[in-house]
Amino acid sequence: MAVEFLTAKVVENKQWNDRLHSLRVDADFPDFKAGQFARLALDIDGELIARPFSLVNAPYEKLLDFYLIEIPDGVLSPRLAAMKPGDEIKIAPKAAGLLTLDQIPAAKHLYLISTGTGLGPFLSIIKTDEVWQQFEKVVLVHGVRFANELTYQELIADVKQQHNEQFEYLPFVSREKTDEAIEGRVTKAIKDGFFEERTGLTFSAEDSHVMLCGNPDMVQEMMDILITDHGLQKHSKREPGQISIEKYW
Ligand SMILES: Cc1cc2nc3c(=O)[nH]c(=O)nc-3n(C[C@H](O)[C@H](O)[C@H](O)COP(=O)(O)OP(=O)(O)OC[C@H]3O[C@@H](n4cnc5c(N)ncnc54)[C@H](O)[C@@H]3O)c2cc1C
Repeated sequence: MAVEFLTAKVVENKQWNDRLHSLRVDADFPDFKAGQFARLALDIDGELIARPFSLVNAPYEKLLDFYLIEIPDGVLSPRLAAMKPGDEIKIAPKAAGLLTLDQIPAAKHLYLISTGTGLGPFLSIIKTDEVWQQFEKVVLVHGVRFANELTYQELIADVKQQHNEQFEYLPFVSREKTDEAIEGRVTKAIKDGFFEERTGLTFSAEDSHVMLCGNPDMVQEMMDILITDHGLQKHSKREPGQISIEKYW
């Protein structure tokens, strides 16, 4: 059965750098859970082309916020990146995705580890009250290549101010030196023990839950390290574990 897409109106297109944008849109969109994604679509040469995009706003916020990177040869993302206030886009009428707090078993420490635009669903999660009630400590990791990809700093600083010791934000920049972030890749930092030293926490099957989102190579490599070196397991409803993942491609 064909899905009847809703019409959404672009309210703002915030450009962070040459490729990164936040598209804020107004739509009569139903309830969703923090961590889920929506499907945005445009009519391109007579065909409705849709792609999934994580919801960055919290469920209680009216404007929908999408954090996207323009893929130079991509079909949809360059068109989304060029949108202006007042433009219309289509949005599938329901959110989806299992990268949500109600899907994971009880744990003390929640690690939200992202690369690039994979930061998005974790911003939605840290805006909710639930995450602060459910976990003793929340560690947000954002791995990027260059310092100007460290976006949403104001929001992250607000959350830090509100939750102080309960929240740790660890940005990693891999291709340049900067005072704003740790140099290198988060996978290496976990592998060589720097990460545990820095957070003062130890990964364990009893206390940890790790959510991974973004680049599929990072997700796979991180999962391998956490399974092999720390004894964690991939989580599913049928076989509960400590690692939940979302690969963006
Ligand atoms: C569940 C889910 C949620 C997603 N949420 C987001 C999101 O919040 N923000 C976002 O920018 N993208 C997100 N994506 C990716 C997004 O759906 C599209 O794949 C992306 O916008 C490219 O679409 P396109 O039509 O322009 O490119 P296509 O012509 O479809 O080209 C796809 C190629 O672009 C590259 N690519 C795709 N996504 C990314 C990315 N995020 N970063 C770097 N390279 C990428 C890969 O090489 C991929 O093979 C998500 C994907 C999934 C599966």
